[in-house]
Amino acid sequence: MPTPTKESITEALGKVVDPTFDKPMLDIGTLSDIEVVDGKVSLTAQLSSPADAIRELARTRIREALEAAGVTDADVNWKIQVPTREVMGDDPLPGVRNVVLVMSGKGGVGKSTVATNLAVALKRMGMRVGLLDADMYGPSIPTMLGVRGAPHSTDGKKIQPLQRFGIGLMSMGFLVEDAKQAIVWRGPMLHGALRQFVIDVDWGELDFLVLDLPPGTGDVALTLSQLFKVTGVLMVTTPQEVALEDVYKGVDMCKKLQLPILGVVENMSFFVDSAGVKHELFGAGGGEKIAEFAEASLLGQVPIDPQVRVWGDEGTPIVQAAPGSEPAKTFMNIADKLTTRIAVEQFERGGGKSVPGDGPKRLRIVR
Ligand code: ADP
Repeated sequence: MPTPTKESITEALGKVVDPTFDKPMLDIGTLSDIEVVDGKVSLTAQLSSPADAIRELARTRIREALEAAGVTDADVNWKIQVPTREVMGDDPLPGVRNVVLVMSGKGGVGKSTVATNLAVALKRMGMRVGLLDADMYGPSIPTMLGVRGAPHSTDGKKIQPLQRFGIGLMSMGFLVEDAKQAIVWRGPMLHGALRQFVIDVDWGELDFLVLDLPPGTGDVALTLSQLFKVTGVLMVTTPQEVALEDVYKGVDMCKKLQLPILGVVENMSFFVDSAGVKHELFGAGGGEKIAEFAEASLLGQVPIDPQVRVWGDEGTPIVQAAPGSEPAKTFMNIADKLTTRIAVEQFERGGGKSVPGDGPKRLRIVR
């Protein structure tokens, strides 16, 4: 093999296809800074999704291309550049790259469970994450993340979110003294409070702000979509028909509000008994039906597992408490697919150009 040169390496890498965008990485700028010094190759690879599968694919493709060019050792500087939503001049969350609304038409399908586990999964991928509990009448985040206490302000202007597992949190539950106390506010007051949760809370710089929306169609999503551009919606359903009717309405509302549906999660899909036999307690196919109606992908099917509830009640989502368990692996896989979906959607919206890599240089720290 001849000694590698910058030209020969650039040519070899020219065929490497970006695993997220399906285009040559050199053409779209996700491969750059190719240097050959004293026969030693170095380059920068920029990924738009922190998903493990994407990085592995990129790593394999780059390695194979380099090996074909006779290079067995290269110094790859990996960067993750999470795409950013459209941020207008009056956007109250200028430092927040993506806002994901976790929604369902119906209560009790596991929306808060999905929102909390998603937030933790994203955090474990090395992302900067916030979680806003927009369910003002029935806030679940304080219990599911085991956090109590009143948020305070250090400058008399902005409210500091509470923290758990490195995730900034805000919930109506932090503002009531007794968790059993009913919130007897009228709609407009609640909307005022929700606006404050967005505008007056110091969310800072985030890759993802996850919002746990109240069940039902409607006004909360409307209030939010008037405040800022949302990246998209994660729709949660269970398999049975009775839940689906309400979820269809939720999907329809998203279409009316022009909120992109990034994917569907089917929760409580099946139960595996101690003999390993799978039971579809609530029927089958609901997630697929909703995904089809929403023209989105079914990102995952979460099994019914008592541990999900136990850890939720304990205040440590299962992704954190038992990352090796089946439900946790499913949640992490959903987070992988969601981040990749977001990257692809933003890439297409941006006319097939990747954002230059000036973003945070962080790789997955745990897992
Ligand atoms: P929602 O936000 O839609 O009202 P929750 O997330 O509060 O629903 O979930 C309702 C209840 O079901 C909670 O007690 C939660 O722990 C439990 N739960 C949710 N998903 C699962 C699951 N996959 N397996 C077992 N229990 C679950």
